[in-house]
Amino acid sequence: MTTILNLDVPRTLDALVSLLLSSPPSQPVEAWLFDDGPSRKAAEEKLAAAGIKARIRSAYKPLVYFFLEEVDVSSLTRIEVGYPVHAAADPHRFLIEAYPLAALVGDAEISFRPNDLDLVYDVTLVTKSGETSTHAVFAPNIVEDDHVGAPVLRCCGWRRAVGIADAGQRLKADFEILFLAAINAVKQHHWERQQPYFDRLRIAVDLPANDRDLDFCSESISLREAMHEDLFFAVRECLNAEMGAMAGRGGARPGQVVPDIRAAKADPRIVMTVENFGEHSETTGPESAIETASRPLKIGQIRNELSKIEGEPIKAISREGREVLGRYHKGPGPAVLISSGQHANETSGPVGALRAAQALAADPNSHFAIVPVENVDGYELHQRLIVENPFHMHHAARYTAFGDDLSFTVPAPAYERDARMAALALSSAKLHLNLHGYPSHEWTRPMSGYLPRGFELWTIPKGFFLIICTHPGWETIGETLLDEVARRLAEDKNLVDFNAKQIECVRLHMPNAPFEVRYGIPVLKQVSSLYQAPLTIITEATDETVYDQTFIDCHEAQTRTVLFAVEAYRRLAENSDFPAV
Ligand SMILES: [Zn+2]
Repeated sequence: MTTILNLDVPRTLDALVSLLLSSPPSQPVEAWLFDDGPSRKAAEEKLAAAGIKARIRSAYKPLVYFFLEEVDVSSLTRIEVGYPVHAAADPHRFLIEAYPLAALVGDAEISFRPNDLDLVYDVTLVTKSGETSTHAVFAPNIVEDDHVGAPVLRCCGWRRAVGIADAGQRLKADFEILFLAAINAVKQHHWERQQPYFDRLRIAVDLPANDRDLDFCSESISLREAMHEDLFFAVRECLNAEMGAMAGRGGARPGQVVPDIRAAKADPRIVMTVENFGEHSETTGPESAIETASRPLKIGQIRNELSKIEGEPIKAISREGREVLGRYHKGPGPAVLISSGQHANETSGPVGALRAAQALAADPNSHFAIVPVENVDGYELHQRLIVENPFHMHHAARYTAFGDDLSFTVPAPAYERDARMAALALSSAKLHLNLHGYPSHEWTRPMSGYLPRGFELWTIPKGFFLIICTHPGWETIGETLLDEVARRLAEDKNLVDFNAKQIECVRLHMPNAPFEVRYGIPVLKQVSSLYQAPLTIITEATDETVYDQTFIDCHEAQTRTVLFAVEAYRRLAENSDFPAV
C-alpha cells in the first residue's frame, strides 16, 4: 500500500468563528460555506453570544437553503425566481441547482425566468395576505481551470460585510481544499505508463457534514455524496486525460477508484492510498422473499435464486476473481437475453431480472439467457459502501474493478463481459433486456461545473424510464416493442403517478431535457450498433440507492418490463420478418 496524500484540513467554519471572536468586525458579516444547516446555525449562535452578528449560509444550493432556512413557505401564495445565467456554464445551471424547489413550496405558485444579474437569484415572494417582498440570493461561484485544464464555474466559499458597499472575497473552504488536494495528488504522482495504473485507489475523506432529507420523493442534500461523485469522476477524468483517452468515457482502464466519504465530528481529513485487491470475499447476510425484497439482495441470495432456474450454467471470472454466473434456459420460442448489474450501484435490476426469469422458467415456451449481476466486483463494493452511506448513489460501484464499463470493454481478455458474450452465443438472442437504474435524487459535481459531465440527462430523476437501442434496420420493430411495453407498464397507476410527479418537477428545473413521454413513461430511442444485440431495451429505475416500498416499486417495474417485452417480442417474431443480422 502506498500513501499518496495524507492531509488534515482545519475546518473553515471553526476558523471563521475563531477569527471573528478574536477580532470582532465593525459590521455584521455574511459568509457562504460547505457545511450543514445545524453546524452553521451553531456557529451563528456562538458568535451572537459574543455580540457578533453573522449569517452563515450554504455555498452549495444556496437558493434551496434560502427557502429552507429563511422563508416561511406556508405563508406564500406566489413565488417568482429570476436565476442567473453565466457564460462559463450551462444556461440552466442555476435553474438546475434550484431543484427541487418547485416541489417544496406547497400550494404556492412558482415561476422561473433567467435574469441578467451576476451570480444572484432575484426572488419575489407574495404572501397569502397580499404582502410582496423581494430578495437577492447570492450564489458564490468562481471560474477556474478544472482538473483537465478547461475553465469551469465552480461553487466556492465567500465572505463579505453587511451594510457597507462590499462585494466580499472568496473564502477558500475546507470542501474545496480537500477536493483540489486530491486532484493535485493524482496529477503529481508518477504513474506507471500502462493500464491499469493500480488495483485500487482509495480516497478516504472525513467530512463533518450530515445529509438533509427533503420532503420530495427520495431527495436529499448531501455534501458527502457530492464529494464522492465529484472526486470519483474528476480523478478518473484526470487519469483518462493522462492516458490520452477521452475524458469521462467508459473505455479507459485506470483501475478501481473508491472515494469513501465518512461523516466525522473532527476536522476534515483526506488520505489517498494505492492498494492491491488482496482478498475478494463477499458480503453475506439474511435472505428475503424475492417478490417483496426491500433492499438490494446479497450476492449469495442472487446465486441461490439463479440456481432455481433450470438451464445450462454460464460462468465468467471477474477482474478481482469473483464468479459471474448466468443460465441459458432453452425453449421453443425466440430467445431473449436478460442482464442486470452492468452498473452495480443499480440494484433493482438483479431482483427484477431474477423475478422475471423465474416466472418465465415456469412457462414451457420460454427461451432465455440470464446474467443477473454482470459486474460482481462493483456489486460487492456497493454492498460495502452502503454500510456507511446507505442512501447515496455510489458511482464508484458503477464500473468494473478495471474502471471500465463492461459493455464497452475493448481489450482482451474481457473478464466479466465474457458472461454476456457466452449468453448471447448460446441463445442467439436478438433482444437484450438490459436492466439499469440511475440516481433516485439529484446528482451533482459542485467543484466541476455542477452538472455530472457526460451524464447531464440523469442529473434529476424523472421516473421509470425506457430506452430502445436498435441496430440500423431494426427501428420499426424496436418502435413497436417500445410502444407496447410502455403502454403495458402504464397499466400500473402508481408507477404513472410517481413518474408524473417527477416529470412535472424536472420540466420546471430542466426544461430542455430531451426525452419523450409515452403513456406516462419517459422514453428515448437510439439507433446505433454500439450494443451487442440488434434490439436492446434498457430500463432506468430510480434505484440509487433506495429501500422499502420504493425499492419494491423499482423491481416490480423491472420485472413487468421483462415479461411484457417477452410477450410482445414473441408476437412480433411470429408475425414479422426480422432483418438479417
Ligand atoms: Zn446503468
